[in-house]
Amino acid sequence: CPWGAPNTTSISCSLADVMSEQLAKELQLEEENAAFPEVVAVAEGPFITGENIDTSSDLMLAQMLQMEFDREYDAQLRREEKKINGDSKVSISFENYRKVHPYDSDSSEDEVDWQDTRHDPYRADKPTTTPRKGFIGKGKDITTKHDEVVCGRKNTARMENFAPEFQVGDGIGMDLKLSNQVFNALKQHAYSEERRSARLHEKKENSTAEKAVDPKTRLLLYKMVNAGMLETITGCISTGKESVVFHAYGGNATEDKVIPPECAIKVFKTTLNEFKNRDKYIKDDYRFKDRFSKLNPRKIIRMWAEKEKHNLTRMQTAGIPCPQVVILKKHVLVMSFIGHDQVPAPKLKDVTLGSEDMKKAYYQILNLMQQLYKECNLVHADLSEYNMLWHDGKVWLIDVSQSVEPTHPHGLEFLFRDCRNVSQFFQKGGVAEALNERELFNAVSGLNITADNEVDFQAEIEALEKMNEDHVQNHGKKLSMFSSDGDPPIYDE
Ligand code: ADP
Ligand code: MN
Repeated sequence: CPWGAPNTTSISCSLADVMSEQLAKELQLEEENAAFPEVVAVAEGPFITGENIDTSSDLMLAQMLQMEFDREYDAQLRREEKKINGDSKVSISFENYRKVHPYDSDSSEDEVDWQDTRHDPYRADKPTTTPRKGFIGKGKDITTKHDEVVCGRKNTARMENFAPEFQVGDGIGMDLKLSNQVFNALKQHAYSEERRSARLHEKKENSTAEKAVDPKTRLLLYKMVNAGMLETITGCISTGKESVVFHAYGGNATEDKVIPPECAIKVFKTTLNEFKNRDKYIKDDYRFKDRFSKLNPRKIIRMWAEKEKHNLTRMQTAGIPCPQVVILKKHVLVMSFIGHDQVPAPKLKDVTLGSEDMKKAYYQILNLMQQLYKECNLVHADLSEYNMLWHDGKVWLIDVSQSVEPTHPHGLEFLFRDCRNVSQFFQKGGVAEALNERELFNAVSGLNITADNEVDFQAEIEALEKMNEDHVQNHGKKLSMFSSDGDPPIYDE
């Protein structure tokens, strides 16, 4: 019992004295002083300030009791949580249902107008409990609305009006009478706890790591961990508009798969709006043409993940340094991690390379772009210092979900944009040998566009694209200059 053993010291005094409220208060104080040191040792919440505990305050006592109650409630929750989860690697957390939260110092918003009685359920019945005239009875037995007992009972009953998840106990059954002060304090406490709980929940839901991970995605990830494919998911590497990337330690190899020791998990966001403006990449990609019209947006997002997987596989086959695909599940792509010990390799934009390394990187990229175009039949379409990582003394290409074949109706425009990004980056980076964007474009594509200014150059690119489109329309196939020697089949469905 938190109140300790009943105080048995007998006090000799008159009945009148016993009845006096003064004495009652003193007795209660004594009893509390005897019982509380024990409780205080356990409770070290926000309201208890160490040695100088003022037990004369009803408010303090009420809060201490509430705290005790919440603690017991949480302990029970924890037991249930443990029972449900057992040894499973996938665990369900009851965190959001806990009552005792770490004290939140910025609780200024918690200050509510706790005198607010808008939600007073007793307002309607007021005439029955307290008549208009403000009192009931006659002569000596008159009871006003200020009567402590009536008011106390009413306050107890009003506690039922706190938020449903707020446990108020059976105050009515005990005929508990709460003073206005205590009632108001409890009400305030209930409000602030409710808000604190909501805020904590909100904070968690919006935290970076959780942002893209809706419950369905979380389940997908849990399944991978439970299946032993991944050892642990350690945290978030990057949150972009369209994807979130996590780091994970690889799990056990299976008969047909070797899992790299460190993995990157790219989760394509299932919030749809960001993908709308990517239509142009995929809509006109003939590899996806048949499917596009029939698909709902959710499936289109899976197609992005699928595209990234297939493009990475093609690149891997050509020997281009890029992440190796481990597995694709719906909109979640697991690949090898470029980096060491949870630290991802820096983007080219974030490293400062010496002039020798810078030159080396440039020639490597020139080669990579040619390889990508000729051997993989791909244009990166988002190539820049943001999507090239510097790792083990060389450049690695990532982020190829939007990559298209050169015959894509806008493929050459995308290639030209890539070339512009690359030459600008290296020219600014002091690589004297760096070709300008037009020279780079010709060097990569093998085309020979002679225009010596950007406008004409782009016009020629668009004319070529149009020619190709018309040819496809008329002959049902591509011009020979674009022809690739057969695509690997794209879908395994
Ligand atoms: P986004 O579409 O969000 O740009 P990216 O594929 O470029 O997606 O990934 C975002 C970031 O995550 C990258 O800039 C890189 O820092 C990191 N990242 C992605 N894949 C890997 C990987 N395989 N290894 C290490 N880091 C990666
Ligand atoms: Mn990127």
